[in-house]
Amino acid sequence: MKFDEMDISIGTKKVLELHGFKEPTEVQESVIGPAIDGMDLIVQSKTGSGKTLAFLIPIFEKLNRGLEAIVLVPTRELAQQVDRVARILAKGHGKSTVVIYGGVSMENQIRGLKHASVVIGTPGRVMDLMRRGYLDLSRIKIFVLDEADRMLDMGFIEDIRWILSKAPREKQMMLFSATMPQEIINLARHYMSNPEKIILSADEITAENVSQFYVEVGEINKIAKLSSLIINEGGKYLVFCNTKRNTKSVAEILQKYGFRAFALHGDMRQASRSRTMDAFKQGKINILISTDVAARGIDVHGITHVVNYDVPQYPKDYVHRIGRTGRLDARGKAITFVSREEMEYFRRIEEFIGKKIPRIEIRQAGRIKERLDYREKSDIFGMVKFKFELKNELSEWELVKIVSNAGIHEESIGSVTIQGKSGELKVHYRNAPKLRKIRVFRRINLVDAG
Ligand code: ADP
Ligand code: MG
Repeated sequence: MKFDEMDISIGTKKVLELHGFKEPTEVQESVIGPAIDGMDLIVQSKTGSGKTLAFLIPIFEKLNRGLEAIVLVPTRELAQQVDRVARILAKGHGKSTVVIYGGVSMENQIRGLKHASVVIGTPGRVMDLMRRGYLDLSRIKIFVLDEADRMLDMGFIEDIRWILSKAPREKQMMLFSATMPQEIINLARHYMSNPEKIILSADEITAENVSQFYVEVGEINKIAKLSSLIINEGGKYLVFCNTKRNTKSVAEILQKYGFRAFALHGDMRQASRSRTMDAFKQGKINILISTDVAARGIDVHGITHVVNYDVPQYPKDYVHRIGRTGRLDARGKAITFVSREEMEYFRRIEEFIGKKIPRIEIRQAGRIKERLDYREKSDIFGMVKFKFELKNELSEWELVKIVSNAGIHEESIGSVTIQGKSGELKVHYRNAPKLRKIRVFRRINLVDAG
């Protein structure tokens, strides 16, 4: 099947051809026809499968006059991205679009609304402009929720309900999502009439073009591992952290060591977010450190590596993250850094995607040195075990006394056994460095419990 052979207008075909889109993707092939026929649709299809054109093409096929369609998306980046594609189609139909999100002035948006046929926006600013009387949805014919699962995760449900309540009951509604949690089904049941479900990735959640691996590494050595990885395997890196704070620290340290890395997170001003994104797209920086929210829906070509610096808390975030690489025909690599505390979350991810992810080692490349990570070697009580050789024979009781005199509280000392001059003892990992300074040992070595 080619776009050329589909039952769509010449205007659409022309701009698609002009931009090199020849064949519809699977989701586009399943969605475009029913959507043009006016059906309500719930579409589950994995990240990178081409959902944007799947809803935008039908929208532009159906426009007459005035503002007739709205697309709600969770983030500003995604709004801009959808709008870029929408503007391509708008050209083919002599229409215009307007993109609406917070953090920037309203003036251009208000001006754009005067002529727009399609609004693409994030819920907050959309509501704002509606309340101020600049945006009127009472004659909307098509309502699209893109990345619906994430909008719910971000707490937009009440906003979406409010916006929907201002749109006519008689309208076409389409809902797109990479996952289909129960809340979305409920939302659909409430607002859609007899929707058609198009599910393309129910049992095939992870991107096939992505090779997935994990690395065992404690928190203190993650930054060294990341730098080694980047040196060993050059490329375009999208690195995910679970918190804004981590994105900032990781970016700062990498910069300090001469890497072209920047953070992307929700606290940044819109202008600097856009600047960072552009620099990444154009390859001026090759490492972007992001939170889940900031990276949502971002479509940057040529990302070779996705690194989960922190294991995501929710398995579906893992799927979204690794979907940032290996889009369509490109191949990508996803590497997850797993500390001992995170192993449980990681196993849950494996369960969710239904397969084992292989473990790899990253060769040390030196720019940032790895340190001995006692915590990573400790048991569930935080104790690490050492084997030692004494200079002179001592009783166990005498050794405990010496060790506690060296500033290691007795509670932090675990079992001690001595036979002749050699023996073993356990201390809390925080005190392990102090042990090395004690003079009674001829030799003392950490026993790797792993
Ligand atoms: P999704 O919303 O499902 O995550 P997108 O709509 O963002 O996916 O599309 C992912 C990428 O695939 C984009 O770079 C887009 O330009 C490209 N793409 C979409 N449709 C086609 C197509 N029919 N042919 C080639 N590339 C396409
Ligand atoms: Mg999308």
